[in-house]
Amino acid sequence: MTSPSNGKNSMPVAILGGGPVGLTLALLLAKRSVPSVVFDARSVEQANADRRLLALSLGSLQTLGSLVELPGDAQAPIRTVIVSSVGQFGRAVIGERDVGSEILGGTIRYGDLIAALSDAAEANEFISVRRSLKVLSVRQSPSSVQIELQGELPFTAALAISAEGLGTEPVEPPSQSALIADLEVTGIERGTACERFTRDGPLALLPLPTRTASGAKSGANSGAQKMALVWCMSNAQADRRSVLTDGALIDELGTQLGERKLRVTSLHARNRFPLHQRARDELVEHRIAYLGNAAQTLHPVAGQGLNLGLRDGVVLAELIGADSAAGNDPMQSLHSYAQSRRADRAAIVALTRTAPAFFATRFAPIALARSIGLTALALVPNLRREFARLLMFGVRF
Ligand SMILES: Cc1cc2nc3c(=O)[nH]c(=O)nc-3n(C[C@H](O)[C@H](O)[C@H](O)COP(=O)(O)OP(=O)(O)OC[C@H]3O[C@@H](n4cnc5c(N)ncnc54)[C@H](O)[C@@H]3O)c2cc1C
Repeated sequence: MTSPSNGKNSMPVAILGGGPVGLTLALLLAKRSVPSVVFDARSVEQANADRRLLALSLGSLQTLGSLVELPGDAQAPIRTVIVSSVGQFGRAVIGERDVGSEILGGTIRYGDLIAALSDAAEANEFISVRRSLKVLSVRQSPSSVQIELQGELPFTAALAISAEGLGTEPVEPPSQSALIADLEVTGIERGTACERFTRDGPLALLPLPTRTASGAKSGANSGAQKMALVWCMSNAQADRRSVLTDGALIDELGTQLGERKLRVTSLHARNRFPLHQRARDELVEHRIAYLGNAAQTLHPVAGQGLNLGLRDGVVLAELIGADSAAGNDPMQSLHSYAQSRRADRAAIVALTRTAPAFFATRFAPIALARSIGLTALALVPNLRREFARLLMFGVRF
């Protein structure tokens, strides 16, 4: 691993957690000649087995595209997003005309993204990736941090950046779960994603990339699109729906989707994720900074968690890179990082906390506000444009 070419501080940055955010940060730092060591408790095979489908905004695709070449068959473009609510008038369609770009974003499986980022990190001279190695704790001193590792000698670094998500310690089980599955759906155009608010919780249909290991049979139904389901609900509903037959679950989906044309014709590869939600008050503790899910673990409504985490990484890498190039102690950058991330975090945390409850309630005035909100989004192009830009690029000044 190479030392920084122009910085006085020759200690590397320790990145705790080699999930998508930690690995992206390492690659962004490497572009600025800042060396890092990434520690992850999982093997790459364990990470690759995660089949959740991630919707990435255009901003995130641009960030990742500057670092790695994501395989074409592992991604599917999103050109249109339809937002609607069960039992409500009003339906908003966000598309190319609202954002001035051919696509709004794209999808990729978590495991495929990790594979591409890991390959790029392993090949980079500024990055050392140490897997199947658990971080136990971090000891801080005025000028460095010491990372305590399971079964290995401690490691000294200039900074510790926690990208550990929820970490490895047991956390209180959440009350909500997401059911995920691969579907075949007729009556929908390729490249369309749907966010449908049901009384149980938000339900997303996302275009699946062609590389899919599930049992979805290509061309089994002519005109059917392969899509991924992410349906959030209480644990009680998830328990009940987890044991339904495929046919019974397809029927329930049909009722919730409501659209006359839209029909789920097959369902495979069911899975379930606990939905934790938490956000740290402080992003920085002396020489430790938190980003991605370690900073904020969000409800997956509107697919914002990773997108926000990647924006954390872009800002942090820019600041550390500038300090390192100037020969300054990179700790100086951490305070600016916490300040710069305040508005974007606040907006997205508030959106993901309030939207599911806002769309779930049957209270009549809120139901009316919901319909008016969706209609306004459908009818007022400026509002739609601003909403789309928030989801694609976050809060920018
Ligand atoms: C069902 C579902 C659907 C989602 N859909 C979307 C979506 O469409 N769009 C979107 O933007 N986001 C989505 N998200 C959120 C997204 O998955 C997360 O925001 C993203 O994975 C966060 O990445 P991360 O690298 O911060 O954390 P993680 O992905 O949690 O990675 C953390 C890493 O740290 C490692 N680690 C933890 N503790 C230790 C330790 N002590 N020592 C060493 N290593 C450690 C772990 O092994 C892991 O590799 C979804 C989430 C769920 C559950």
